[in-house]
Amino acid sequence: MKRYSILFVLFAIFLLITYINIEEIESILIKKFIHQTDQKIANEIQLKKTTTLALAIATAQDKRLQEYLQKKRQNLSLLDLSYMLRRYTRFKNIHFTLLDPQSNIVYATKSCQKLLHLPAPYQGDIIRDCYGLHFAALVPLKGDRVVGYLEVLSQFNSIVKDLKGFGIDAAVVLNKKLSADTKELSLSIDGYKIVNQNSTQMFLKLLYNFPLEQLLTSSKPFSIAGKILYRYPLYDHQGEIIGWVVYAKNRDLIYANFINRAVLVRLAFLVLLFAAALFVVIYLVEQAKAKEQQKQLRYLYNILDNLEEIVIITNGKKMEYANRAFFRYFDGFTNIDDFLLYHSCICDFFAEEKGFLTAKIENKSWIEYVLEHKNRNIYVKLVYKDKEAIFQVKANKINTDEYVVIFINVTQEYQKEQELRTMATIDPLTKLYNRYYFEKIAKKKMEEALLTGSFLLFAMIDIDHFKAINDTYGHRVGDEVLKEVAATIRKRFRQSDPIFRIGGEEFLIILQTSSIERVLQLLEELREEIASKDFAMIPKHITISIGVAMYQEGDSVQYLYEKADKALYQAKKEGRNRLIFTGGERNG
Ligand code: GH3
Ligand code: MG
Ligand code: MG
Repeated sequence: MKRYSILFVLFAIFLLITYINIEEIESILIKKFIHQTDQKIANEIQLKKTTTLALAIATAQDKRLQEYLQKKRQNLSLLDLSYMLRRYTRFKNIHFTLLDPQSNIVYATKSCQKLLHLPAPYQGDIIRDCYGLHFAALVPLKGDRVVGYLEVLSQFNSIVKDLKGFGIDAAVVLNKKLSADTKELSLSIDGYKIVNQNSTQMFLKLLYNFPLEQLLTSSKPFSIAGKILYRYPLYDHQGEIIGWVVYAKNRDLIYANFINRAVLVRLAFLVLLFAAALFVVIYLVEQAKAKEQQKQLRYLYNILDNLEEIVIITNGKKMEYANRAFFRYFDGFTNIDDFLLYHSCICDFFAEEKGFLTAKIENKSWIEYVLEHKNRNIYVKLVYKDKEAIFQVKANKINTDEYVVIFINVTQEYQKEQELRTMATIDPLTKLYNRYYFEKIAKKKMEEALLTGSFLLFAMIDIDHFKAINDTYGHRVGDEVLKEVAATIRKRFRQSDPIFRIGGEEFLIILQTSSIERVLQLLEELREEIASKDFAMIPKHITISIGVAMYQEGDSVQYLYEKADKALYQAKKEGRNRLIFTGGERNG
């Protein structure tokens, strides 16, 4: 419903705009018509004035006129000239008058009771005589002195005729003040004399039925009977209104050009309207889509909120979304805006610990690191208030610079795994490496020795008569003794020399060295230390036997181990509390 009403309003607005525009264009067209017609009349008047003057000057050159004035010659050809002009030129009604220097009429081609002659020579103004409106030019006739004047009058007709050529009906209306004395050739409308015979009957009829007075005094055109009517005032040489050219043109003709344009304009508006409607439809569809999207987003957020895992959307620097699990963990914040007031990144809470993801890692941002190592298990320790938990981090790009990151709380699993890992390598009683770890690392140590070119020794240690300790003081005491022996061994050697508890009371040290003598000496010292050591739990001394074997390229772990064991066996056989070194020979 809302959509349709928007469309309707839009349609109405466009119709209105279209209508207003056409009205406006119509008024502009009328103004243009009036301006052009006025201009035409003004030009025509100017042309007539000038040509009448030119005709007067040219005719005045004829010496016969002077002769006529001076010698009173009878046969003046001015009448002939008037006929000739009527016949061959646009000057259809030319009247010549000859005046003596005192302005008395000496000769006239047409008699007129009351001629209104110009007051001074060389005027080209519109004047009125007993036949209507004329253009007049008066020029002096000169011999040695002024011998008289030639006055030329040309009728106003041609202006009305010329306008006809442009599809404009016109008539010349005389000023009321001037009309009273003339009856001839004039029609009278509303008390105004229409002095032009060139006007069409139709137009005159139109004027009959029209308040002429209103038109003549109005400054705006009239619209009547499908025509636009206006008037052009005519002034005499003293600046008085002498009459008007009343003219009219059919509206259709004025708009003729425009009609096509109007159609175009309407078409353009239609196109605009269509575009606007299309825009509205697209807008509405987009809105509907956005709504649907929001619905889906809400649904998605709902799901995310119900997850146990922390889910955030971030660009790596600033967090954009966080689910409920996030706020359960960071319980000092109520929502994302609240969080963003104090922090921008969840990485503010990453513990700076080895083995864990940190805000910056390997010269990358944490998010880049996670994205680049998708196949690896990446752990982060989130430290907040007194909480400390380990999370596995998974990230996925959802947009340019937008990532969804999941933090899975794996604290328990992580700890268990850590425990398992220790169990797999460390002997819980002595805290030395266990047998399993020996199997794992021994081969590596051999390769390392080959690479560095150093000697590698397996030193196997077995406590002498340990069974007796157990038997005498009990298993618990035995354990304590074992622990103390282990600690004593550990103290003697570098951290890089791994020590393993490979059996009940048997130990093995992998020794890498550049000096075999030095190592053997260290082992001897260890043997002596144990032998002289006072154990807190038992009153008597204990001893250890040591078998040492040297690694040679090609030896397997098993082979070297057995070699050390053989040496140990020999040490036992030879009386215990001693060290046997079997050296490099294979069959020793
Ligand atoms: P030998 O000088 O020939 O080595 O004599 P021994 O008694 O030490 O003989 P052997 O090494 O064969 O005996 C190992 C004894 O160590 C057997 C067992 O009672 C004891 N033992 C092994 N593991 C443990 C342990 O974890 N705790 C304790 N308390 N005793 C252990
Ligand atoms: Mg043993
Ligand atoms: Mg033993």
